Amino acid sequence: MVKIKMAVPLVEMDGDEMTRIIWEMIKEHLLVPYIDLNCEYYDLGLKHRDETDDKVTFDAAYAIKKYGVGVKCATITPNAQRVTEYDLNEMHKSPNGTIRAILDGTVFRAPIMVRGISPSVKTWKKPITIARHAYGDIYKDTEYKVPGGSLVELVITSEDKETRLPVFDFEGPGIALSMYNTEKSITSFAKSCFNYALEVKQDLWFATKDTISKQYDHTFKDIFQDIYDAEYDKQFKDAGIEYFYTLIDDAVARVIRSEGGYIWACKNYDGDVMSDMVATAFGSLAMMTSVLVSPEGQFEYEAAHGTVTRHYYKHLKGEETSTNSMATIFAWSGALKKRGELDGNEALIHFAERLEKASVDTIEEGVMTKDLALLSEIENKKVVDTETFIKEVAARINS
Ligand code: NAP
Ligand code: MG
Repeated sequence: MVKIKMAVPLVEMDGDEMTRIIWEMIKEHLLVPYIDLNCEYYDLGLKHRDETDDKVTFDAAYAIKKYGVGVKCATITPNAQRVTEYDLNEMHKSPNGTIRAILDGTVFRAPIMVRGISPSVKTWKKPITIARHAYGDIYKDTEYKVPGGSLVELVITSEDKETRLPVFDFEGPGIALSMYNTEKSITSFAKSCFNYALEVKQDLWFATKDTISKQYDHTFKDIFQDIYDAEYDKQFKDAGIEYFYTLIDDAVARVIRSEGGYIWACKNYDGDVMSDMVATAFGSLAMMTSVLVSPEGQFEYEAAHGTVTRHYYKHLKGEETSTNSMATIFAWSGALKKRGELDGNEALIHFAERLEKASVDTIEEGVMTKDLALLSEIENKKVVDTETFIKEVAARINS
């Protein structure tokens, strides 16, 4: 069989623990037999990040900027315990945070839906993709425990003047915080959302609390609307999709009543909370994909879950594992499909679609890992180990 060629390299970022094991298995059984893989490889495994003083993470992010598409394995974000476990020189920052900062991107998370695993919300028939604005707001706030008898003010010092706004006159003790965002970041967020909606041809919903927060949240609403009117209205109409703004409370109610099939753009905190709710209601974190999209249209695909540490320790002890590789397979298929689209490589696009279909078919035919067996309503399930699942998918690629 002739292998599919790739003209432009895909940026491949290897990772840690159980997902690193899965990564290798996916390449061996599902990719290398079909594709002449043209990848620029970056080892983001924790030990190698440490050896390079984390330079490898930066290099990988710049490579995505250069080539446009990357695929990333889950990685450890070190804490004090990891510093000891891996004998690190430093407690390096989260690679995802580093890459996101360089690409200035927005993360879109979407569930993989399969027959037999029904969302907890009965009306949901299609995936709901959540886009979280991962900049500012309470994640970068300044907080203060205020003693009784204090006046809290907001002071804005500009070049030529100082503005003081009274916040609250405290008789007894209380609390206060201030937070911020920038027009630049909100603009990038909006553009990433509009571009991604066009990309996947789905409606875009956005919601804030602009009736209460007349300056702060209203600025989000206005920036989205201005950019939409100026740059996207015609493109959306041509694509047959809609931009829909509503109040956050109304959005929550509508989401629950909806049948899915759209992108829900959320402010930072809303996205943090709602993505966990939506992921849980769709069934499993192991079935959640994630793509980082930059405002300039660069894409980085990954699984939404972590390195599945508990399974890795079992694997190291020689025990059998049943780790779900679906989200990591879909990270690869998403990246390959995108590479194919950008390069006009039909064979690559077609292969990525076959791979996704084979993976979904495997589960719908009853072959699945332990986590899904607990959720699936299908009868006569066959629970398999990590590698057997991937081999079962391989067996279905050609069928
Ligand atoms: P996790 O790796 O997502 O795993 C949490 C638990 O969820 C697992 O122990 C497992 O439950 C279940 N699970 C997650 N993915 C699964 C899969 N593919 N198949 C089957 N079960 C799955 O989260 P964590 O334990 O909080 O974090 C572990 C490491 O991952 C940390 O070092 C963290 O820094 C890193 N992390 C990386 C990323 C990323 O790179 N994007 C994201 C999150 C976390 P059971 O043990 O009950 O089977
Ligand atoms: Mg959260």
